[in-house]
Amino acid sequence: MFVSENLSVNSQGNLTIGGADTVELAQQYGTPLYVMDEQLIRSNLRRFHESMQKNYQGMGLVCYASKAFSCLEMCRVVASEGDGLDAVSIGELYTAVKAGFPMEKVGFHGNNKTDEELRYALEVGVGHIIVDNLPELERLERIAGEMKACPHIMFRIKPGIDAHTHQFIMTGQIDSKFGFALETGEAFEAVKEALSCQNVKLVGVHCHIGSQIFDIDPFEAAAKVMLEFIAKVKNELGYEIPGLNLGGGFGIKYLEEHDPAPFEVYMERVAAVVDEQCSKLGIERPFIYIEPGRSIAASAGITLYTVGARKEIPGIRTYISVDGGMADNPRYILYQSEYEAVVANKASQERNEKVTIAGKCCESGDLIGENMPLQHAESGDILAVLATGAYNYSMSSNYNRLQKPAVVFVNEGKSRVVVKRQSLDDIIANDV
Ligand SMILES: *Cc1c(COP(=O)(O)O)cnc(C)c1O
Repeated sequence: MFVSENLSVNSQGNLTIGGADTVELAQQYGTPLYVMDEQLIRSNLRRFHESMQKNYQGMGLVCYASKAFSCLEMCRVVASEGDGLDAVSIGELYTAVKAGFPMEKVGFHGNNKTDEELRYALEVGVGHIIVDNLPELERLERIAGEMKACPHIMFRIKPGIDAHTHQFIMTGQIDSKFGFALETGEAFEAVKEALSCQNVKLVGVHCHIGSQIFDIDPFEAAAKVMLEFIAKVKNELGYEIPGLNLGGGFGIKYLEEHDPAPFEVYMERVAAVVDEQCSKLGIERPFIYIEPGRSIAASAGITLYTVGARKEIPGIRTYISVDGGMADNPRYILYQSEYEAVVANKASQERNEKVTIAGKCCESGDLIGENMPLQHAESGDILAVLATGAYNYSMSSNYNRLQKPAVVFVNEGKSRVVVKRQSLDDIIANDV
């Protein structure tokens, strides 16, 4: 009935998430409010690491991409499941450190890491740094020398695979700000350079082919291309790269018609390709890393709003305005992302209207979505937008000096605040 398995309707006709009544949550904590189901986060993580166990003998690490949703409690949950983390800034690293995350299971990404970030990563002992470009390699070699460290590195590689939602095409030359190109020989030169460095150790190659990918074919194709590269390096430079990082990008169900491949099938098929290719190419099976972000957090979350004005423009459209918008969910204004919505206190009724849900920011583009099927919504109703657990809180802003909403975790019917709602004093905290 709903896009996420943890959503249901109770006997009062209210939407529930992880066994908690969303109307009660809205009353207790106020709106707008992010609500995340801890059990679904955990079960999403387990689906990845258990299928890695089953299909690849556990020779791998699931590194949750924390840019999807990061806070102390999220880091603690991921750590308690035994999984790793992918961080893309000093802020995400700091959050992991403060949560007591085992830093040897953390990978540090970014196409333009600063010296300060590299130093911090070495200081806190991250497991590996994914190097994006040659100047970064040179800076890291120098900084590691100064700090008497020997960081493990991987290279971010553009495998030349352009993944789209329902198809993929091999492109001659990909245009991306991230990483080293394979086809120009740039990646091979980088490996040569790394092997001549004194203070870094090359432990892997990395690729991340896109996001919200429903098919497994592009992942298989990427694994193949990357393994061929590992074989080429072995044959021509005599060094066998022990790790292969296949990134994230697994699609999730935002709309009823979305039909992503189950995570288990991904690991099963990719493990088969890796096994087959390795014996064909005469290389050892690499240690595999994957970096799911959206697929861990998105389905576990919803956003609750209170409906304000209802504006019917005859012959044009009906606007339903809510007490949040682009400041807490900028994905519509950024990419016209689509969501399903439900009037939480009328969840058992038919969604027999088509409306535009508008935010409260001073931008006409500040919408949650257009042409959305919804129950008849009136002022005072609670609106739930579904599958907002990834790239909503983490992309939120204080535009219009709006306070960022609280994040509440529910766990088998019980709820707790994991991020407090910003106060008005938070809004001016750094003003002088
Ligand atoms: C964003 C990102 C991810 C996570 O992508 P999802 O689509 O959220 O799974 C993983 N790895 C890298 C390098 C990324 O940039």
